[in-house]
Amino acid sequence: VRLTVLGKSPAWQDAGGACSGYLVQSGETDILLDCGNGVMGKLRRRIDYLELDAVFISHIHADHVLDLAPLAYALTLSPRQDVQGPPGPPIAAPVRPPLHLPPGGAGQLRRLVGSWGSDDLIDRAFVVSEYTPGEAVGAGPLTVVPTEVPHFTTTFALTVTDGGGRFTFSADCGPSEALVEAARGSSLLLAEATFSGAEAPEGAGHLTPEEAGRHAAAAGVERLVLTHISDEHDAAAAVARAAGEFGGPIEIAAEGTTYEI
Ligand SMILES: [Zn+2]
Ligand SMILES: [Zn+2]
Repeated sequence: VRLTVLGKSPAWQDAGGACSGYLVQSGETDILLDCGNGVMGKLRRRIDYLELDAVFISHIHADHVLDLAPLAYALTLSPRQDVQGPPGPPIAAPVRPPLHLPPGGAGQLRRLVGSWGSDDLIDRAFVVSEYTPGEAVGAGPLTVVPTEVPHFTTTFALTVTDGGGRFTFSADCGPSEALVEAARGSSLLLAEATFSGAEAPEGAGHLTPEEAGRHAAAAGVERLVLTHISDEHDAAAAVARAAGEFGGPIEIAAEGTTYEI
């Protein structure tokens, strides 16, 4: 599995950066995990969006879904798609990639895009479905398993494998035994460490670097990649804090970096 970081920013973008978005590839199959603000432009630098085989969304928060809007506009308005475009020979089969959402996500996105326009934008662009917690969803050689984790809204960690490599993306979450169980058997844990500049408040829906390290150690993964960290925090300090809890290699997710798993 090849994992490329398109965007790793938290709720606001790094300078020149993007919010949550990860391109995952195996063979000819390309899937996108999350589509936060800024991700569309980063995705277009890597692949043709018409080649996306599926999009998976961890949860319906702005920094994980806002660029579904431009992606949906591209899929419906591009001259290569001509779904509702200018007169001319109709395109026989416009591309409509599957969009896999958390339970309730389809209605949330209809309300979001309906606040400025037609509420069926997402439904026209994608083949929309809502996944079932714990139930694997396939995309070519890739399998994605959603595991519910504690956050401020219904949220799922996503474990991805192609039968060879396997990694787990924490999504946004507070401390969670479910995340440890999901990551057990993965070689890489892509874990959020939002509280890189502070201790987590009680009942927080995010992790500190120490907590991310503890989850990686408990799950027995080989590598830890910290993400969802603002460029306004000290990256080296975050790695050092996580290293107190996890003995394997630790990196901060960097936009444009590819991990071979
Ligand atoms: Zn987030
Ligand atoms: Zn969130």
